[in-house]
Amino acid sequence: MNTILLVPREQAKGEERVALAPMQVSRYKELGVDVLVERGAGTGAGFTDVAYKEAGAQIVAKPDWGKADIVLTVRGIEADTVKALKRNAVVIGLLSPYAKDFPEAAYREAGARAFALEKLPRITRAQAMDALSSQAAAAGYRAALLAAIALPRFFPMLTTAAGTVRPARVLVIGAGVAGLQAIATARRLGAIVAGYDVRAAAREQVESLGARFVDVGVSAEGEGGYARELSEEEKAEQAEALGRHVAQSNVVITTAAVPGKPAPKIISKKMVEGMAPGSVIVDLAAVSGGNCELTKPDKTARHQGVTLLGPLNPAADLAGHASELYAQNCYNFVAPWFAEAGTLAIPADDEIYQASLAAGELPAASGATADTEQESGQGAS
Ligand code: NAD
Repeated sequence: MNTILLVPREQAKGEERVALAPMQVSRYKELGVDVLVERGAGTGAGFTDVAYKEAGAQIVAKPDWGKADIVLTVRGIEADTVKALKRNAVVIGLLSPYAKDFPEAAYREAGARAFALEKLPRITRAQAMDALSSQAAAAGYRAALLAAIALPRFFPMLTTAAGTVRPARVLVIGAGVAGLQAIATARRLGAIVAGYDVRAAAREQVESLGARFVDVGVSAEGEGGYARELSEEEKAEQAEALGRHVAQSNVVITTAAVPGKPAPKIISKKMVEGMAPGSVIVDLAAVSGGNCELTKPDKTARHQGVTLLGPLNPAADLAGHASELYAQNCYNFVAPWFAEAGTLAIPADDEIYQASLAAGELPAASGATADTEQESGQGAS
């Protein structure tokens, strides 16, 4: 019996992405894997059942959870569904492993494993699997477009018979993957763009995109390429210097995050009140509480003429490309498990799989260990 890889419809509300694109089906088949796709799973991303079928997948009306060896998801599955998994089944996704409702106990009870791609180590070898980065790029791009739509002004400079229009000023706070993509997109739309980050390394990246780097004199490099949390003194220093730049901007896009922590509050109510009416804030950190005090997650708020957007899942609005990239990240994560086609063997001593395991256990760390389901006889063959 071949290894069975199941791609269900996403259970999370409003999730339009999918963890498999038709183009990966043949690649999985080359690994000796049978691919099952729940009917309609790719609709939101523009992938039809016919396209999956033609690529070699089997379309199923309802997932048979107890049959799957690997469940590929974007946002994971609910606790009740986890309970229906067979022993040693593997679920892969952006599983929010730091959230309170992550169903770790359900995985333990089922004897199944969960790999959370948020926990991938930031090493060169893992870059092709880095779903946070691919999805952050989509989110950053969308953030700049959302801002351009919400702003009652042009982004570019325009010279018309009726007069000259000055370009919009955009400030991007947090120049990681999402922030840099927001900067690049706002620049392409013709805005004058500045970027700010607490990591000193971000300066060069911001400037290489033709934007100005805002230096507030606070540097906070953390581990693994991420930022660390700022001290109270550093926060006050940052707020004072940043306030002036925020007041001069028509658009502020915030993307600042510290892994596993609530988003740092960077834009205070006072800073919002210092912006000109008609200005726009797009808070990409809304999902972890927001970088702005006044952000209402998943809503559009208005305060003294300033529009505040708090999109929770902007990458899902770009579901086609976001899914293609994500699906390739997943494939790159799974492919090393099939050093021998048809035999699922997770390399248990590989730091990539050790670090990203969010629930359950890896087989004993003795290199690539055949990971078949001996007891029930249902596993890979
Ligand atoms: P992230 O989503 O965790 O955070 C977004 C940005 O917010 C980061 O640049 C961070 O420095 C910044 N930030 C945090 N607190 C802040 C504060 N108080 N004020 C201002 N800015 C703040 O980060 P990310 O986008 O996932 O990536 C961060 C870095 O890691 C980037 O330089 C990226 O290129 C690098 N990276 C490396 C690898 C790899 O080597 N495999 C993979 C992905 C990303």
